[in-house]
Amino acid sequence: MIVQSITVLGSTGSIGKSTLDVLLSHTDKYRVFALTANTQVDLLAKQCLACRPEFAVVSNNHYAKQLVDLLKGTPCKTQVLHGEDALIDVSASSEVDAVMAAIVGAAGLMPTFAAVQAGKRVMLANKESLVMSGGLFMQAAKKSGALILPTDSEHNAIFQCLPDQVVVDGDTLANAGVSKLLLTGSGGPFRTTPKADLKNITPEQACAHPNWSMGKKISVDSATMMNKGLEFIEACWLFNAAPADIDILIHPQSIVHSMVQYCDGSVVAQLGQPDMRTPIAHCLAWPQRIEANVAPLDFAALKELSFEQPDFNQFVCLDLAINAIKEGKGAPVALNAANEVAVEAFLHRKIPFTAIADTIAQVLQGWDDVEPTNIDMVIDQDNIAREKARSYLSR
Ligand code: NAD
Ligand code: MG
Repeated sequence: MIVQSITVLGSTGSIGKSTLDVLLSHTDKYRVFALTANTQVDLLAKQCLACRPEFAVVSNNHYAKQLVDLLKGTPCKTQVLHGEDALIDVSASSEVDAVMAAIVGAAGLMPTFAAVQAGKRVMLANKESLVMSGGLFMQAAKKSGALILPTDSEHNAIFQCLPDQVVVDGDTLANAGVSKLLLTGSGGPFRTTPKADLKNITPEQACAHPNWSMGKKISVDSATMMNKGLEFIEACWLFNAAPADIDILIHPQSIVHSMVQYCDGSVVAQLGQPDMRTPIAHCLAWPQRIEANVAPLDFAALKELSFEQPDFNQFVCLDLAINAIKEGKGAPVALNAANEVAVEAFLHRKIPFTAIADTIAQVLQGWDDVEPTNIDMVIDQDNIAREKARSYLSR
């Protein structure tokens, strides 16, 4: 058996921790090459002791020194690096087979893109990188031979429901007889909250997702449903789908993770517990299967599986995202950047919940850039949109 060498970008986050849980159950199949974190050195030190990676990467020299101190005198011989270039190196290294891209937000773009360009198996949780660089990302994968395996549960479900004709050979959805991708979402914690009450929502309420335990940023995205908007864009790129090929469907129980409808009337769905270890294990082992430490579904105990239309009036961010991918010309970059700035401000209690959508709408209004043709252009557009969002918020 060949042991696969894995880099986990963002190992101290929610996806990162779940990934290590699966990896450590299969040390006969996987070894950890590198772990990375932004600032959480205490947890990263524990993870280094448990996984013994060659490298650990943190954001700056200050945290690097702390990590070195924490590992001093232990049997762990991990080399500690810092900064974005180091993130890129541990993603693209010739010693790496697969990269779990689980940094949150635009910070994940460069290392994830580097893994794609280096032709790795890229397990993509960091949806923001694909939303930002869409066409460039997919072109780079085609050129390098990188295998993009979606870790986002909905996209992982769709991947599992599509034939190899599409996901391996790259054929079109139409040729495979697909009539719709049915992207499901729970609707988040405020699905039934009266719209007039949304302005009073606190970060604590927004981060208390009914079904999933996740990082703060994606939790807020789920509460505004921007998460589903980003996922809509993500699905367009991953499956070469037009916006008209995708329907969003609210499914409050988060058991059906998404579905594919075919022209003969068949619908193929993927079901499972709302536990990210399932799609993570799928990405690691595909096309094989491995244990994920997830309890089997107990169908008799499932009281109800219900579905409804999303409320575009309640969740303005959905429309903003769908319009951005239709618009192109860097609008998805601007959407993502404005969202990150606004979510951060909301989490710091500087703006009300409803100002998140207002900020994004403001940044997108009159946004008429060109389609980015290289990564530097993506970064430039991202910076311009962040500046616009900050100046709107400080007015
Ligand atoms: P998280 O906040 O729990 O973890 C984020 C990780 O990124 C941490 O390890 C952190 O140290 C690192 N990080 C943050 N800022 C960084 C920076 N500037 N530079 C380098 N590293 C940085 O987030 P999460 O919930 O694990 O989500 C990670 C990604 O996966 C997001 O893109 C999210 O949309 C996606 N995702 C998450 C889930 C989930 O269930 N949590 C599901 C689907 C997709
Ligand atoms: Mg998802």
